[in-house]
Amino acid sequence: MTSKSLFTNNLEEYRSLMYYNPDGVCKLNLDGKIVDSNPVFEEVSGYSNTELLGMHFKSLMVDPSRWEHEQSRVVNAGNQRIAGFECELKSKTAKCFVVLLSIMPIFTEGRLVGQYVINRDITQQISERTYSVKIQNMLAFSQRMASIGSWELYPDRKTTYWTDELFHIYGMENTGYVPFEKYNELIHPDDRDRYWESFKSLSTGVQKDIEFRIIKPNGEIRTLLSRRQKILTDNGEILMIGATQDVTEQKRTQEFLFKSEKLSTIGQMAAGLAHEIRNPLTSLKGFLKLIPQTTDPQRYLQIMEHEINRIETVTNELLTLAKPQVKKFQPTDIEQKVANVLQVLNTHALMKSVEISVEAERNIPLVECEPSQIDQVCLNLLKNAIEAAPIGGKVIVQMAQTNQEKVILRIIDNGPGISQENISRLGEPFYSTKENGTGLGLMISQKIVLEHHGKLEFHSEVHKGTTVSMVLPCRQPRN
Ligand code: ADP
Ligand code: MG
Repeated sequence: MTSKSLFTNNLEEYRSLMYYNPDGVCKLNLDGKIVDSNPVFEEVSGYSNTELLGMHFKSLMVDPSRWEHEQSRVVNAGNQRIAGFECELKSKTAKCFVVLLSIMPIFTEGRLVGQYVINRDITQQISERTYSVKIQNMLAFSQRMASIGSWELYPDRKTTYWTDELFHIYGMENTGYVPFEKYNELIHPDDRDRYWESFKSLSTGVQKDIEFRIIKPNGEIRTLLSRRQKILTDNGEILMIGATQDVTEQKRTQEFLFKSEKLSTIGQMAAGLAHEIRNPLTSLKGFLKLIPQTTDPQRYLQIMEHEINRIETVTNELLTLAKPQVKKFQPTDIEQKVANVLQVLNTHALMKSVEISVEAERNIPLVECEPSQIDQVCLNLLKNAIEAAPIGGKVIVQMAQTNQEKVILRIIDNGPGISQENISRLGEPFYSTKENGTGLGLMISQKIVLEHHGKLEFHSEVHKGTTVSMVLPCRQPRN
């Protein structure tokens, strides 16, 4: 090969490297001025090749003083290449773009004659990176504010990811991996079986929220609510995702509200109850006086027993309401519950001459529920109905079995009704239109019914009356 053809070949290769290079390339002389550039650089900088010629490269830098610094790095490196540092350049239209800048020395016959500057445009990656960091920070902040941590689990790969907040909720240090044995120990021993059981049912596709307690490493007991889901990723892999919230404070507030509503109801009931007890007591006293004079005490004794039973039901009812309850679901006769509650409310109704009639279907099945809680719901709903009914008004209680193993209880009054606008407010804490109302009765009732996997519904017509329906399943699904 002649030296001429070698030269032509080299020139062609140089052009290929320059013009087909996917990165922006500038060739500089020893003064740092541009002597050649490629199409990609022209495109990103917005300058034409002719405009670029003779420009000092540093005039393209957002911070030109950096040029000297980078040049001294080149010299210190013994005129080796300086690879990939992030640098902000400004385009002809003064738009800033970020490049990964590499500097390479050009030698001719052993002499340094200039430099190539390679600019890889990374503006897009940088903005995506900044955006994702921003989103991550925002997410971490909102998780902290709401005490919600989230997690991901790939069961096939056995890999798990927890957010910082989840570690925080469990009182553990984020060491980058999830210490499963330690985690299992944190779950309250009484809740452990139920927790893993429900986790297993998640893998078979049953999604359910679970509330459970943990004992943090510092001994503190907290209540957590975990909501999770099984999904298939785009590449067909099983992924379980979930969010876990520390609901300890909410639960405390709720329990406090429950208690205050209960106490207020009991307070309001007390006067009526005194009546309810005094009446049978008066007759008992009378009969006691009569017995010594009669020849047929049996007849009196029967009535007396009946009166004593009445006092017993009423006091028991009040005690169930007042006593803090250990939650225990058991088969319960709703009809009996309603009858007991009506005994307690009897005076309340009498004072307003409200007539209460009960229409129950035959053989209504038992409902599995927490009896004292259902008591509380019946009491709230019936009391509302009596309070809504006009003087001399009517309240009808209907009980029936639906076709899907459910029992429905309807309480119908002929009160003023509730406007469409206010119906949506029912169950809102402290929403009350009564002078001495707490506005907590329906909120609590709704919560209890939901916990029983049941439903509470309101139908109302202004000036006509209101029907409240409570549907309860006969059997409780197992967690
Ligand atoms: P409270 O009885 O203490 O006011 P509740 O939560 O039991 O609180 O009820 C909230 C509100 O809902 C009542 O103040 C009343 O305005 C309305 N409400 C409830 N039941 C009825 C009903 N049967 N008829 C008309 N309004 C009702
Ligand atoms: Mg009420």
